[in-house]
Amino acid sequence: MSGEKLSGGCVCGAIRYELDNTPAFVAHCHCRDCQRSSGAPMATVIAVPRSAFRKIKGETASYRYTGDSGNPVVRHFCPGCGAPLFSDVAVMPDLWFVRVPSLDTPDVVAPGMHVYCDSAQPWDISGDELPRFGKLPG
Ligand SMILES: [Zn+2]
Ligand SMILES: [Zn+2]
Repeated sequence: MSGEKLSGGCVCGAIRYELDNTPAFVAHCHCRDCQRSSGAPMATVIAVPRSAFRKIKGETASYRYTGDSGNPVVRHFCPGCGAPLFSDVAVMPDLWFVRVPSLDTPDVVAPGMHVYCDSAQPWDISGDELPRFGKLPG
């Protein structure tokens, strides 16, 4: 349900956040950075306006690197348990990218597409009909 408030956090509970369920988009990302940082074949992210996202408990650790676009990406994660939580992507400065599985109710979020499918793993079989993009749409 769009507009409701969602909460989430890390595995150990040290980090908590909340957001308004007003996504710009929700996507499964198959880029190698998402694969490496999640230990999974893809990362599912909800992109929300900055004003819709609030950190409510704890201080994240972060790692800054250069993303596929050539612009900085800062990944935030729990310093205690290492769970990946949200990212600050310079090329889209108005949005926070939040890892959907870190939500308390990830089931209420509906992914709309697959991105960076050029680096999708051949054994990652996503049996859905969502649009797939080699990198980003558009
Ligand atoms: Zn933690
Ligand atoms: Zn990615």
